[in-house]
Amino acid sequence: MTKIVRVTDDISVVDEAAEALAKGKLVAMPTETVYGLGANALDEEAISHIFLAKGRPQDNPLIVHISHKDMLECVVKSVPEAAEKLMDAFWPGPLTIILEKSDKIPTCVTAGLNTVAVRMPRHPVALRLIEKSGVPVAAPSANISGRPSTTRASHVIEDLSGKVDYILDGGACEVGLESTVIDMTGEVPQILRPGGISLEALRQVLGQVTYEPALKDSRTVPKSPGMKYRHYAPKGELVLVDAECSERVQALLADSKCAGGKVGVLCCGERGYDADFVIDCGDDAEAYAQNLFDALRQMDELGATFIVAELPKDSGGIVPALKNRMLKAAGGRVMTEAEEYRTELV
Ligand code: AMP
Ligand code: MG
Repeated sequence: MTKIVRVTDDISVVDEAAEALAKGKLVAMPTETVYGLGANALDEEAISHIFLAKGRPQDNPLIVHISHKDMLECVVKSVPEAAEKLMDAFWPGPLTIILEKSDKIPTCVTAGLNTVAVRMPRHPVALRLIEKSGVPVAAPSANISGRPSTTRASHVIEDLSGKVDYILDGGACEVGLESTVIDMTGEVPQILRPGGISLEALRQVLGQVTYEPALKDSRTVPKSPGMKYRHYAPKGELVLVDAECSERVQALLADSKCAGGKVGVLCCGERGYDADFVIDCGDDAEAYAQNLFDALRQMDELGATFIVAELPKDSGGIVPALKNRMLKAAGGRVMTEAEEYRTELV
């Protein structure tokens, strides 16, 4: 049985779930990025239940969430000066830092790696849950593996009801995309996954920061095991088009109408497209990011068999993360004006 707890003004309603989590139960929690499926990071059996509930491949490590820097002591071996700077600048917030793992964290959390991913989220419900449980909380995104991440409690209920002990409903997630993952164990800090904290913001604090090569070149094996999987894919075929190419979108919609099936479009702003389902994800990239996973899930529910999605217009900020998720969902291809596909990763 899954208990669904709506969290409004009285945040203490979270405390019962926190106590259960400390004893090995699974609790889905809202964070500012996406919903997470939390378990006691020090409890191997609880961790095995996360992998089971999600159908997550065993070689994909989990992010460990903390509510206070004091908790770092049982998560990582040491905190280098540069990592400390990142924590001061971006925690609590959507930045996950890879550091050398402490022996207290079981290897099933890190999929056998000697590094661990750690983050302090800024959502008050997540912070209260971790604080009251008194343990570091391992939490991947609270979706069935491969499906779009969950950014509303209704998405979590759809994917995980009956498989977890608590779902804490804290409304819609503020960022809507997963955290930035940065590896601080090498000579130069590397972004393994673009997310809520931008490359520019990281460079302001650290100076030199690069994208991991696999983010630019699909022939390279990614350092972050999770990045090798196809993710976020809706059930229908998804084709991406640059926002400036509205004629290409029109043509794709017209062709697919002739071919039959139900056609959907995700656009950035009102465009007047002729499709069975039109979801306007918003004119600016932040709004698009907040709405993307919900829109992809809506298309599934509506039964769209073919979906055309406009890529965001701007660059910088959240855009590389947004494009990265859209490209993963679409198998890494964008249709050009010349009706050819180009490959792109961030
Ligand atoms: P999720 O929690 O589902 O958003 O996925 C967490 C992401 O962090 C995945 O892409 C993991 O592969 C990545 N990750 C977690 N731990 C590590 C680690 N120790 N080294 C590299 N990547 C990691
Ligand atoms: Mg995930």
